[in-house]
Order: sequence, then structure tokens, then C-alpha cells
Amino acid sequence: MTWSDEDISYLKKNYSTNPNMDEMCERLNRSRRAIQHKGARLGLSRHGHLSRVYPGRTPRKIIEKRYYEKNKERIYRRKINRMRELKKEMVKMLGGKCQKCGYNNKCFAVFDFHHQKGDKEGNVSLLLKNESRQKLLKEIKKCILLCANCHRELHHTGQ
Ligand SMILES: [Zn+2]
Repeated sequence: MTWSDEDISYLKKNYSTNPNMDEMCERLNRSRRAIQHKGARLGLSRHGHLSRVYPGRTPRKIIEKRYYEKNKERIYRRKINRMRELKKEMVKMLGGKCQKCGYNNKCFAVFDFHHQKGDKEGNVSLLLKNESRQKLLKEIKKCILLCANCHRELHHTGQ
């Protein structure tokens, strides 16, 4: 079902200000999902709308905060594990040994990703923390694998 101009202008007017999604569903004769999808396509956001106050109900932000407080150990560990797994995989992808001295200890923590000069777009250790796998892979492809010693030596001698 295509959106009429009238419906679109109604949505633009109401999407970010009308707290009542059900009312919009009824007026537009569409599901929540369809409305949210269209809203996103139009670049609208509902973050600014004033929520209805439900007596006795805990606001979502407080619930999220409580969830985080209760589970932060687990959340933190999950993040660290993701980083480690990714690094392990990237190290394997680049041959699993230092390209200068051949060091290939099982502990992947000793490895650095060295950028060949000039084409660095992102810091790999930061990318490992926060970026998508795709972005990381793109950056990793420009690197060679060095052990921490060789990496430091190389930067020290400025080669
Ligand atoms: Zn080395």
C-alpha cells in the first residue's frame, strides 16, 4: 500500500510529537512496524516525543540502568571476548607469525598490526572495540603482522 501525500504529511507532523502510537496506527490504518519503518525512511525520530505517564510504571531508562548495573560484569566480559575472538581471527588471517622475526607464539596478545606507510585510516585496536567486522577487515588488509618487539624497533628506527 503506497503512502498518500496526505498520510505522509500527517506522519511528518505527528511522528516526533504524538506520544500515542495507537492513535497514529488507527488514523493511518497501518501497523506500528509500517509506521516506524516509514518514519525512519523519512528521517524522523521519536526520541523527542513526550511519553505518556503511566502511573506505577518504571521508565525504560531506569530499567536499562538497573539491567546494566546488575549485569555489567557479564556485559563487559562479552565485549572483551568479542574483541579477543576478533583479534585471534585477524592474527590468523595475516599468517599468525611476525613478518620480521617469525615469532609465532600461541599467545596472540603479542601481535600488533602494522600499517604500511601512508594508508592508515583507523587505529586497529580502537576498531576492534567499536567497529563492525567489515570496517575492521578493510583496515586489516592494509597491515602486516609484527610482534610487539619488532613493531617497536621498527618505529624507533623510523623505517
Ligand atoms: Zn618480531
